[in-house]
Amino acid sequence: MIREGAGFRELPPAAIVPEPGTSLKNKTGSWRIFRPVVDREKCSKCRICWLLCPEGCKIELEDCFETDLDYCKGCGICAQECPYKAIEMVLEEGSSIA
Ligand code: SF4
Ligand code: SF4
Repeated sequence: MIREGAGFRELPPAAIVPEPGTSLKNKTGSWRIFRPVVDREKCSKCRICWLLCPEGCKIELEDCFETDLDYCKGCGICAQECPYKAIEMVLEEGSSIA
């Protein structure tokens, strides 16, 4: 805890993570321009998307893998790597690419 009004000499020497799990509060899904949409008929639950998603935001459901859109940044790796072409990247409503 940093004292209010603390001078620079009292600050920690570098950026620190003060407690575990703080990234959960940072909902990075708002950064997204494209959203992955899963075709549940095509998904074989091979887990490739789950393995490769850099955000760890693939969620296993009973019949397929879905995406936690609170954290998905829309990088498109899952759609690119899905061997069954079960994921399509769709432009988010209100987004545009010039
Ligand atoms: S990579 Fe494709 S087929 Fe495999 S679990 Fe993910 S969505 Fe389903
Ligand atoms: S688009 Fe990127 S961040 Fe979003 S689920 Fe796919 S791999 Fe993960």
